[in-house]
Amino acid sequence: MTKFVYALSEGNRDLKDLLGGKGANLAEMHNMGLPVPPSFTITTEACKAYLEKGSEPEELAQQIDEHVAKIEDEIGKKLGDPSDPLLVSVRSGAKFSMPGMMETVLNIGLNDESVEGLATVTENPRFAYDSYRRLLQMFGKTVLDIDGEKFEDVLDEAKDAKGTKNDLDLDVEDLKKIVEKFKQIIADETGKPFPQEPKEQLLEAMRAVFRSWNSERAILYRRQERIPADLGTAVNVCTMVFGNLGMDSGTGVAFTRDPASGSQGVYGDYLQNAQGEDVVAGIRNTMSLADMEGVDKNAYDELMGIMSKLEDHYKDLCDIEFTVQNKKLWMLQTRVGKRTAEAAFKIACQLVDEGAISEEEALSRVNGDQLVQLMFPRFDEKAKKEKIGQGMNASPGAAVGALCFSSPKAAELAEKGEKVILARRETNPDDLVGMIAAQGILTSRGGKTSHAAVVARGMGKTCVCGAEELGIDVAAETMTLPDGTVMKAGDVVSINGTTGEVFKGEVPVVDPPVVKYFEGKLGQEEIDGDELVHAVHRIMTIADAKRRLKVRANADTGDDAARARRFGAQGIGLCRTEHMFLGDRRPFVEKLILAETVEEKKAALDALAPLQKGDFVEILEAMDGLPVTVRLLDPPLHEFLPSQIEMASQMAVARAKGTDITDDQKKIMAAVERMAEQNPMLGLRGVRLGIVIPGLFEMQAKAILEAAAERRKAGGDPKPEIMIPLVAAVQELEIMKDAIRTVADEVSEATGVDLRDTPIGTMIELPRAAVTAGQIAESAEFFSFGTNDLTQTTWGFSRDDVEGAFFSRYIERGIFGVSPFETLDVVGVGAMVEMAAKAGRETRPDIHLGVCGEHGGDPASVHFFHEVGLDYVSCSPFRVPVARLEAGRASN
Ligand code: ADP
Ligand code: MG
Ligand code: MG
Repeated sequence: MTKFVYALSEGNRDLKDLLGGKGANLAEMHNMGLPVPPSFTITTEACKAYLEKGSEPEELAQQIDEHVAKIEDEIGKKLGDPSDPLLVSVRSGAKFSMPGMMETVLNIGLNDESVEGLATVTENPRFAYDSYRRLLQMFGKTVLDIDGEKFEDVLDEAKDAKGTKNDLDLDVEDLKKIVEKFKQIIADETGKPFPQEPKEQLLEAMRAVFRSWNSERAILYRRQERIPADLGTAVNVCTMVFGNLGMDSGTGVAFTRDPASGSQGVYGDYLQNAQGEDVVAGIRNTMSLADMEGVDKNAYDELMGIMSKLEDHYKDLCDIEFTVQNKKLWMLQTRVGKRTAEAAFKIACQLVDEGAISEEEALSRVNGDQLVQLMFPRFDEKAKKEKIGQGMNASPGAAVGALCFSSPKAAELAEKGEKVILARRETNPDDLVGMIAAQGILTSRGGKTSHAAVVARGMGKTCVCGAEELGIDVAAETMTLPDGTVMKAGDVVSINGTTGEVFKGEVPVVDPPVVKYFEGKLGQEEIDGDELVHAVHRIMTIADAKRRLKVRANADTGDDAARARRFGAQGIGLCRTEHMFLGDRRPFVEKLILAETVEEKKAALDALAPLQKGDFVEILEAMDGLPVTVRLLDPPLHEFLPSQIEMASQMAVARAKGTDITDDQKKIMAAVERMAEQNPMLGLRGVRLGIVIPGLFEMQAKAILEAAAERRKAGGDPKPEIMIPLVAAVQELEIMKDAIRTVADEVSEATGVDLRDTPIGTMIELPRAAVTAGQIAESAEFFSFGTNDLTQTTWGFSRDDVEGAFFSRYIERGIFGVSPFETLDVVGVGAMVEMAAKAGRETRPDIHLGVCGEHGGDPASVHFFHEVGLDYVSCSPFRVPVARLEAGRASN
């Protein structure tokens, strides 16, 4: 018989797969001797079985009964006892935390009878009916799928009738009436009365939690966070403890360090006489932990002790949920807390300094995506700004966009490419679509632990919350400023999630200190003086010492090359030459294409050669001492000619004006027509150009080699490598290599600089090249995997055409989790890379292997390239630090 239910004492923090994060950590806290209410956990296996069959496994109910009985013994109360009922919560908890994504039902076990019993034993009827109305509301909304607004409306009416906005002003008589109305709503909406039987309540709630795994917003969140779809959620059944028993009770959330800035010291919010989500939902304004000390010193002291114990134990920032019931502290949840990118780097270094973790461990605590965030632009401090509000710095960054008050609308506008700031009084899980779509999130209610803040931090999205003086009216789609000005949907605002400031209009942005650091613009003193920059510096040093993969950059100009070098690039992995044929050089290319005689062709090439040489001198100088891989011309030639449409309109203009069409125009038109291709991507390009247009690749090689000779004579140390694109067969490469070797002999002869051993290699970017890599390596002295083209040709789709057309559908249907152009498709394209690398090495053991596709700067792909033993990755200059960090993590 499968074991589907685990007692707290049977679990621990390593069992997240089975017990979910919440269940595993509740067990861990229990085993640490911390005060956790008696609980048990139903496994993710049970969830998966339920989702597969649509009903739970047979043995489950029996196992639940046994564990309920154990809790009943421990507490001395019975589920459903009309005079003194045991109440429980039914909570979701997946392996990866999905804040607010799944459903939780509190106060299970109450019914028309036991609510009276609870009122009597606690001598607190208000509390009993408050708990019952919460059960009805949560059960109605999450288990029975009734629109939550129906319940909210009743509550609002009751408060309005009393002339209050505070739920605490509702007395027991009000609450009794509300309970009746809630039950009526349930009966009306479902055609059945609210289930009075506690066991049935429990099982129904459990099933709802199981089902919530596949709710729209859970699916959306998983996709956003790249959480696998087949993990399932566990269900935690916990004895209720009550923060809503009066002012000596309450509930709170806390962090052992500030998750936004990474500053040391505890951080949190507490709310008296409240239950469950009240703190994060922002229904009343919370007090800080420091204020809680004044309210309930004993519970506060115990909480501080527990928080430091948890940090010692987990050796990381922990976030926790707790409740105080009549001055007694209970722990309801802990986990290693989500944090901003800034906090991640700072905390990792703090923990090293505190002796809690090693440097290697610190390296594993941060990642490339976080580093990218630290490199995002900031608001220019010197720019003129009109500040209109101040809220909490909930999630850092600088965001500019048009005000938008509804999440569906935000999604709609973002789809059209518009930048929006989602403005809400407070957010709830239904806002996820809008939060994903928006540049940033602005709320007028709630603190750093509010839903908006937690989710925004998780997504790395800029968020300012609790900007109270901004009157956000979602229904009217307006935001009223303190001076009475009314801003409307579409008006532009700028929000600073690092300081909590809100500005009217668009504030210009500048590079942040971390970028200045990478640019080499900060001195040691400035680095040491800034905790974040210092942390980045330390972690990068650790990563660089660890990594085996080298990191090069893709750069086509001297400036780019110089920048890449400052960012830590160890060479250029891809120097494209096509842009060197555009602009004012276009006439030469046209001449080359139109040339009818050998002499004409040669003349055109001779005119291009010195210009090309100049380009290469600059780049080789910027990368002096480091390898520079130059790719010979790759794109279809007609890209250098006017388009057919352009030519047709030139002709039409000439005709309308009655002027003659020139001979040149006729020739170009003919060439354009001749060279038009159905599938240019699969047409005359790459090495095929070199073979079809004699002299073209030779001219390029000559320019490269002459540039190298010039640099050498100037005392430099140029290290050019010549790369032939789009090779499918070794013969293609052999032909071009012979031609280039001849050029190398000639240039060496002519300049007196020996360039005969300049490496000549190829790109592996066609499936045939990957399959015959062993043969190709007989000629190629290096391989560079062009994973963009390799992805296109392996899948048989063109990146430019398909990403908008059907990728979202493919991702929705689970054909791939993320675009294969973003993260390497390890199973398919990756297998080609691995196979070709192995075959290449077998033929030529010292062959040099690199990657120059977009994937070279993608964290997950970098790990793969490390694993298959490539020598380097090459990426855009700005991604170089990310690749360095991830290469270090991959070696860790
Ligand atoms: P989430 O995963 O969204 O954090 P939780 O399962 O933690 O959801 O529950 C939602 C809220 O209800 C939290 O504030 C939690 O502290 C509270 N809660 C859950 N179980 C209990 C319980 N047994 N007693 C008191 N409060 C509880
Ligand atoms: Mg929780
Ligand atoms: Mg290519």
